[in-house]
Amino acid sequence: MVSTLDDAIVTQSQRPLLGMNQSELTAWVQAQGQPAYRGKQLHQWVYDKGVRSLADITVFPKNWRQAMEKVSIGRSVIHYRSVAADETVKFLLRLDDGQIIETVGMPTEKRLTVCVSSQVGCPMACDFCATGKGGLVRNLATHEIVDQVLTVQAAFEQRVSNIVFMGMGEPLINAQNVVAAVKCLNHDIGIGQRSITISTVGIPGQIRRLAKHQLQVTLAVSLHGSNQSLRTQLIPSAQQYQLTDLLDECREYVAVTGRRVTFEYILLAGLNDSEVHAAELAQLLRGFQSHVNLIPYNPISEVDYQRPSRKRVNQFTNSLKASGIAVSVRYSRGLEKDAACGQLRASKIEP
Ligand code: SAH
Repeated sequence: MVSTLDDAIVTQSQRPLLGMNQSELTAWVQAQGQPAYRGKQLHQWVYDKGVRSLADITVFPKNWRQAMEKVSIGRSVIHYRSVAADETVKFLLRLDDGQIIETVGMPTEKRLTVCVSSQVGCPMACDFCATGKGGLVRNLATHEIVDQVLTVQAAFEQRVSNIVFMGMGEPLINAQNVVAAVKCLNHDIGIGQRSITISTVGIPGQIRRLAKHQLQVTLAVSLHGSNQSLRTQLIPSAQQYQLTDLLDECREYVAVTGRRVTFEYILLAGLNDSEVHAAELAQLLRGFQSHVNLIPYNPISEVDYQRPSRKRVNQFTNSLKASGIAVSVRYSRGLEKDAACGQLRASKIEP
């Protein structure tokens, strides 16, 4: 059957406009019988001005604006927000189907970093992480990822400089939409790929696949254990993924992209934070073009892990340094508002 123009309009309008690039937006306006230059205007209003409804695009003809009022741009609604003492802001965003996700905005003097979610919930069930306790609800669509950045940008009235995929979810299970979102954030919002970090627990084959996209993003891999059995104890999915295989894929990522990999390592008192573990970790990563990011554990209510003392954290850091490993410590922000690493969950807070 030959599809009519009306069919085309209906199908096109079902895909939210956010996430489309300028040529896709131009094709879309043309399909609505509008001149091509309106595509550029639409792009500007969606991405630069952050408009929420086509009805608000005042440069468009009034009749058309009204006719297109129901077309979804794809923006979420801020359901709740809390501000921590360090000015970190946690947003609970309500999506079109009523699901709630968390996004965090972290301002510093020179930067505005957004911690974005890639899924509603998470299937990985890492023992120390709040998100994993509720399981996975669904993947986020490309526009739902991009929207988080526009929402934080508008709330802070400041351009976002950095993005970390360290919110809810496992980005490499939703790689297609995450890669599309990275491209959109880069091309359409103008955030440099080198200012974007994708954090993964590691899914067999997926780091290799990501490398093929030849992005310049930073890959951060959640290691957390200095050997296979310790890692499996903390990350159930590690059972199906040998540490040696994970590191091989990371080496390929470095070879293909020319970017070094960051290894994230949560420090849990008495569990993975001893001198023996530091030595084992240094041995594991010797000669690897990488950087270790130590994250002292942020408490969650379901488990009783402990955060090591500052002294232990410093000693662990110094041991790695002494072995020639590049290392930094991340004291997460927004701790008292449950906005720090691993504390995000699909909250049911009523505003
Ligand atoms: N699924 C991805 C990204 C989300 S979590 C991943 O696992 O990498 C982002 C980072 O926060 C990961 O390194 C994760 O292990 C860490 N994290 C999770 N729970 C934490 C907690 N309670 N304290 C400190 N860091 C935590």
